[in-house]
Amino acid sequence: MKYIKNYIGGQLVNPQSGNYIDNYDPSRGRVYAQIPDSEKSDIDSAVAAAEAAFPAWSGMSKSERSDIMIKAADLIEARMDEFAAAESLDNGKPVSLATHVDIPRAVSNFKFFATAILHFAAESHHMENLGINYTLRKPIGVVGCISPWNLPLYLFTWKIAPALAAGNCVVAKPSEITPMTAFMLSEICIEAGMPAGVLNIVHGLGHKVGDAMTRDPKIKAISFTGGTKTGETIAKIAAPMFKKLSLELGGKNPNIIFADCDFKQALSTTLRSSFANQGQICLCGSRIFIERPIYEKFRDAFVEKVSKTKVSYPTDPEAKLGALVSKPHLEKVMSYIDLAKEEGGSVLTGGTQVHLEGEYKDGYYLRPTVIEGLAFDCRTNQEEIFGPVVTITPFDTEEEVLAMANSTEYGLSATVWTEHLTRAHRVADQLHSGIVWVNSWLVRDLRTPFGGVKNSGVGREGGFEALRFFTEPKNVFIKSH
Ligand code: NDP
Repeated sequence: MKYIKNYIGGQLVNPQSGNYIDNYDPSRGRVYAQIPDSEKSDIDSAVAAAEAAFPAWSGMSKSERSDIMIKAADLIEARMDEFAAAESLDNGKPVSLATHVDIPRAVSNFKFFATAILHFAAESHHMENLGINYTLRKPIGVVGCISPWNLPLYLFTWKIAPALAAGNCVVAKPSEITPMTAFMLSEICIEAGMPAGVLNIVHGLGHKVGDAMTRDPKIKAISFTGGTKTGETIAKIAAPMFKKLSLELGGKNPNIIFADCDFKQALSTTLRSSFANQGQICLCGSRIFIERPIYEKFRDAFVEKVSKTKVSYPTDPEAKLGALVSKPHLEKVMSYIDLAKEEGGSVLTGGTQVHLEGEYKDGYYLRPTVIEGLAFDCRTNQEEIFGPVVTITPFDTEEEVLAMANSTEYGLSATVWTEHLTRAHRVADQLHSGIVWVNSWLVRDLRTPFGGVKNSGVGREGGFEALRFFTEPKNVFIKSH
């Protein structure tokens, strides 16, 4: 049994309570490691270590910080297969996905922000016959990063890298459901020569460790990715302390397919945008709207492809979907399939668990599921399911589909399929979401602003937006006349 340790003050340490929590392998449905059940006292130690490290880290030149981060990226890259296998084992996702998406992206996050900081410049505002204002961008101090389980190292590093590059010291908590690659990252940081206390990783439960981070007045900013309800809890606690907050929350993304789309492209990409990572990506399109003239043709072709999609154990090279992340999550997703039926929906394919054989017989596998015949405003079409379940709905006009697409409390991303240039611009403009992909999905340029509107979040990550979040601007005026 592997025991994960906290990374505090440059050391791998046990939780002060000595208590551990079970860590499950979702592909086999059994415990395979133990995670520290950390408490407020562990957060206190991590914050003290971060505070002590801050003067030296923030005083270092940007290029020295950058070098250490690049070294960490190179070390992850050198252990790519080991990291990908660990991510897949911890999360249930196919190893191929972890190898091609999760771990390369974690490497890119470190490299991107390690170099972005070298190009990050502040503004200056000249006042004729008076003087000049210039803006200093100073690191905040000790900041907190809290991340979810769906893209564990990918989203963990997406927060940590800009925070560190900007000169902050970090206390970070990965999801208790998928802690393994964050633990491996602590070993990498030691090897890369990251000074003690610059990054501290504390494992444990959200309502204990995450809550202690949120309440700690010495943590001046929190970058959080996770569910909307948790975001609300964090905001309620952090707001009276005037902490800076970046909240990346849930989604219920529309995928709008017009009759003039490139049918083949739309079909194959929709398969991915619906079910990649077992549908557990905040950017997956879970509501598919299809223009009436191609509704039946698209539906039949889509259902045929989905029904042939292979669900298997994560190390099967042919697996397109692996296991869902946990038993409670599998049960939650299945409860939405029941709800959809109660609401009058018909399951066109999927809807049931997949029972593999042998050592994988207790894993949390679910067939990719397509549901038709639901009203756009029913609960199934309004609430985030976060699993391999999509609904399909026909539409007749642009106005109608925009009203349906914009009807949820969420506004993270949207996908539009059309060959009509002006319509693409018009619809993209009118969608209430932070991100729109036209004739594509999940094309990511790390320089672009990333985040959602409405209950999908507050603030933006990515590029200089993230570096601005993790710094405080200070304006200095110099009189020259
Ligand atoms: P949760 O909100 O349950 O958890 C996210 C993180 O917050 C975990 O580390 C969790 O710890 C921690 N946490 C839980 N309770 C608290 C608390 N009271 N105070 C502080 N921290 C807490 O989300 P999930 O992990 O279930 O992730 C899925 C959600 O994340 C979905 O809603 C999805 O849409 C969203 N998401 C959004 C993205 C975006 O960019 N907008 C990207 C990816 C996912 P623990 O695991 O121990 O409970």
